[in-house]
Amino acid sequence: MSTCRACLTDNLELLFDLGPLPLAGGFLEPTQEAYRNENKYPLPIHVCKKCGLVQTTYVIPSDTLFENYLFSSSTIQFLVNHFRSYSKWLRDRYNPQSVIEFGCNDGVLLEPLKEMGIKTCGVDISQNITKIARDRGLNAITGYFNKDMAIEIRKTFGTTDIITGSNAFPHNDNPGDILEAAQELLSSDGHLVLEMMYAGSLLEKLQWDSMYHEHLSYFCLTTLSTLLERYGFHAVHAEIVPMHAGSLRVVATLNTSEYHDSTIPEMLKQEYTNGLTEPATWRKFTGKMHRQITTTKKVFNDIRESDYYIPILAYGASGRASMWLNACGLYFPMIADESPLRVGKVMPGTHCEIVTPQQLQKEDPEYIFVTAWNYFDQIRANNSWFKGIWIVPAPELRFV
Ligand SMILES: [Zn+2]
Repeated sequence: MSTCRACLTDNLELLFDLGPLPLAGGFLEPTQEAYRNENKYPLPIHVCKKCGLVQTTYVIPSDTLFENYLFSSSTIQFLVNHFRSYSKWLRDRYNPQSVIEFGCNDGVLLEPLKEMGIKTCGVDISQNITKIARDRGLNAITGYFNKDMAIEIRKTFGTTDIITGSNAFPHNDNPGDILEAAQELLSSDGHLVLEMMYAGSLLEKLQWDSMYHEHLSYFCLTTLSTLLERYGFHAVHAEIVPMHAGSLRVVATLNTSEYHDSTIPEMLKQEYTNGLTEPATWRKFTGKMHRQITTTKKVFNDIRESDYYIPILAYGASGRASMWLNACGLYFPMIADESPLRVGKVMPGTHCEIVTPQQLQKEDPEYIFVTAWNYFDQIRANNSWFKGIWIVPAPELRFV
């Protein structure tokens, strides 16, 4: 029997399972051997009937997912800007002498912090990505951020003013490991700052396409607080930031004399009003998702029926793209991506070729399906050569 990651009860209700699906980040070399070795996995999404946490119970070992990870944050300008602005936010608000970041990726946050003269240490389980960070002269350790790692870091680094992790916390099957490490490393008045996809944005923008194997839990402030409190933390500030179509940023502390600001009761109230922890809300979400998938399939069938040879290509070889292609059964001969790590590989499951935007331009497509719909404005601005029709599938299907 599976238990809820936030409240530990076994009161989980299955909402849907779009699987078996390949790993959304499992981009392949275009070889028959790679195709033969490709695995597909179930992806059951549940809601906890006690605390309301939306989560998947099917866990793929993190070394399978992240050891050779092809998501390098510094190749995405929006993320570079986000982390520059986040580093300033941390400095202006807390003026930290030191910051430890788990899930540090290629050092996209460590670098601006280091430039400000802040002592930094990053931890990430991806070998290839931490090497990129170290090659940039940053202090990045390869490994799991847990209590054992924290004890090791403490010996040389000491305690720290800030521990942060962006888009890493919900990737962990035992998020308590991270909280135990934070207990070990935070100074007595230190702060834990977490950024993660927000269940409220997921609901509002119907983002089923970001519900894939590497994301295990979809927190809101209410459900996150349930978990934090089990480890002696309490949230003192919360806000929504634009990353990944709406992310939750929460500041928590072990310091019992620090009181929360007004953002905490305001957000908790809003979540209650929106029914964010109600199973009925997520059942409705599930119904809308199935309708969106059906509509998208129909649009493609209609275009294909009108002219089978009409060139439709796609843009944005992200995890979301993998979900759209596999869940809707879409095939494109080419999908463009700006990340050099992915170009030359093929998409998981459908094996669409990943090309540069310049290669896409040479094909002169009539339609471009924007799988990275949350970056549409930037994609459109960067590709002013395109005079055809953009198909933007979400939050509402539109033709631009
Ligand atoms: Zn629960």
